Amino acid sequence: MKTLPLLILLAASPLWSWGDKGHRTVSTLALRSLPEGPRAWFAGREAEVCDHASDPDHWKQDRKEGPRHFMDLEAYGGPAQMPRTLEEAQTKLGGDYYRRGVVPWIVQDRWRDLVDAFREGDPAKVAFASAILGHYIGDAHVPLHTTENHDGQLTNQRGIHSRWESGLVERHIAAEDLTVLPAQPDKAFFYRPWDWVKASHALVPQLLEDDRDADRSTPLGGRGKTRTAAYWMIFWSKQGPVVKQQLQLAGQHLGDAILNAWIVAGKPAAPVKPAP
Ligand SMILES: [Zn+2]
Repeated sequence: MKTLPLLILLAASPLWSWGDKGHRTVSTLALRSLPEGPRAWFAGREAEVCDHASDPDHWKQDRKEGPRHFMDLEAYGGPAQMPRTLEEAQTKLGGDYYRRGVVPWIVQDRWRDLVDAFREGDPAKVAFASAILGHYIGDAHVPLHTTENHDGQLTNQRGIHSRWESGLVERHIAAEDLTVLPAQPDKAFFYRPWDWVKASHALVPQLLEDDRDADRSTPLGGRGKTRTAAYWMIFWSKQGPVVKQQLQLAGQHLGDAILNAWIVAGKPAAPVKPAP
């Protein structure tokens, strides 16, 4: 029964984000992208950044948590009309705005936490803040976190959310096979989450079409709860490159986030560990 814990995990959070493996991968890639200065803060704490990367998916008892992981762009009339400030969002949707998702602003908030952690000089806080920030950055790179059709419920493709972000990742992804570009200084980093969400949203139509194609080409014809091996093979052949690309971008952007937080905090040197 080796697969049971995984099944429970997937059943527990089907609509919340990359599965645990996806979020761990984002953390791993980000650490790999860092130059010496900020990298030194994570010496011996690499596992913490991965171990806490899925924490926000377990904070459901807080009813405000769900909308922090996504943003329904259709609610605003599409990517071109995305609000940049919470005031703008509120003006457009009134009290409904929060329910339609707030992930870009949450990335900004958690990034500020990371700047504070560097300023405080506490490597444990830096590791934890990086893990949590990485979670929301990861979610912003999942196409289905940017659309109201988040589980294919509007196009008769229920379950597509976990098929894409967990099913494909669990079956095929290994962090060792992915590459990440070196983290880049970026004065406008604070405003990047909008670009990521927009780019993720552009991937939605093809993703849905590839799922339909894979269903059409397999005997279950899209109605069964359990997909066949043939479905997974076809869906991976079409969407595998997109899954890889989005994981690599999320890792790179978390790396950028950490580097830029460290720069804004004044490029502090990592505290020297006392001799044991
Ligand atoms: Zn999430």
